[in-house]
Formats: sequence, structure tokens, C-alpha cells
Amino acid sequence: MKPLVVANWKMNPASKKEAEDLFEAIKKGLPAQAEVVVCPPFTWLAVVPPQRDGGGLILGAQNCFYEDGGAFTGEVSAEMLKDLGVQYVIIGHSERRKYFGETDEVINKKIKKALGAGLKVIFCIGETEDERNVGKKKEVLEKQVKKGLEDVDNLENINVAYEPVWAIGTGNNCSAEETKESIDVLRKFVSENTRILYGGSVKSKNSGDYIRKAGANGLLVGGASLNPEEFIKIVKSAE
Ligand code: PEP
Repeated sequence: MKPLVVANWKMNPASKKEAEDLFEAIKKGLPAQAEVVVCPPFTWLAVVPPQRDGGGLILGAQNCFYEDGGAFTGEVSAEMLKDLGVQYVIIGHSERRKYFGETDEVINKKIKKALGAGLKVIFCIGETEDERNVGKKKEVLEKQVKKGLEDVDNLENINVAYEPVWAIGTGNNCSAEETKESIDVLRKFVSENTRILYGGSVKSKNSGDYIRKAGANGLLVGGASLNPEEFIKIVKSAE
């Protein structure tokens, strides 16, 4: 299975010009074979459309809503993303769970809607530091994966991202050994054909270990994806 590397730009960069420059810089340095998804904020999705000159980069969004349309101020539907040429959507990121109150039920609805619209899903799962400290990691991962995928019969367009919350944006990346244990827990719920990615303070100095030692099928990269040279090194290390 070809590794998938996903850039989550979060709420960055601040301007249209910077978004264009970042997209171009990543595009220029990419190895020809790489499968790379760039997920800018909604506003920059139309600025970096792959149909214009994607150069092998695939476009992803960071979120979508679970209704088709109507009176849902501030929301964006899966169909709207699809129409723009977006192929992937991140759902259930820990920042959405923490700051926007997304529950497993909401995440499940979003996953079903995104799949129905023909999008591929990057479904994020991960335990908090407290949950890990009290020995609840396995229980939390099992609950999130089960509830998120409830009534989802076809997992063909699902990618799971194991993202320990304590490792996101902290510089405190999870060891390859511990990541492998978590991937083994999640693997019981999805077949070998479903990619399981790792995310959490991935840098070029640790990225290769997740693929080779932990058995991850790709990487979800936040902070380091805003630095094109570093991100390209990460992509190359995953090849
Ligand atoms: C993320 O946002 O999914 C993430 C993994 O962030 P970072 O790489 O900055 O830890």
C-alpha cells in the first residue's frame, strides 16, 4: 500500500498570497510518485485548486458539516467540497473535538455524509494525556473507532489517523513502539486494506520510523507541513 502523507495547515497561512506560495513550494519539491494531500483552510481551497495545476497534489479539507444545505450559518457541506475538486476531508480532529464540542455521534454523521458525497475520509482518533495516564488508552481508541464507523459498511474510502492528543503540536511525538501498539488496537476494527496513519509532532527526523518501525501507512503532519523543505523531507522519508 502506497503511504499517504497529509498536510494539515490548520488555520494557516494568514494570506492568500502565502497560501499560493506554500502550495507552489510543496508542489515543486515533491517526488513524482508521492501521494500527498494538502488540507488548507476553507478560504484557501479555491486558491490552490488541483484542477488549475495541481502537479500531483491532492486537495483535502479540514472539516465538513453533516447536512446537505440550508440554515446552518458558518458551515460547509461535503457536496460543496466535492464540487470544488476536493477529494479528501479530515474528520474528528482532536481540535474539533476539544474546541468545537464534536462528539463521536457528530463525527459518525459527518463521516457518513462525506462518504455519501464521494469524498475520502481521514478519520482522526486519539487519547488525551489524562486518558493515557490512567491506563484508558485502549478503551478510548476502541470507543472512538467503533462509534465513528457505526453503520459504515464500506471502508474503502476511509483512512484512520492515530493522533495521540498529547503529541499534537507539543514536540512530544509518540514513540514508534507505542504507536505500533495503538495501530494494532485500531487494526482489529479495519482490514489490512485500510490505511492507518500516524500524526503528532511528526518531523523529518522521526517520520521514517512511523512507516518502517510502527507499521503506519502514512502520516498526518500539522506544524511541519507549513515549512515546505521540511515537509518534502517528510514525504521522501515515507516513500
Ligand atoms: C495535526 O494537526 O493533526 C498534527 C499532527 O499536528 P502537529 O504535526 O503539529 O503535531
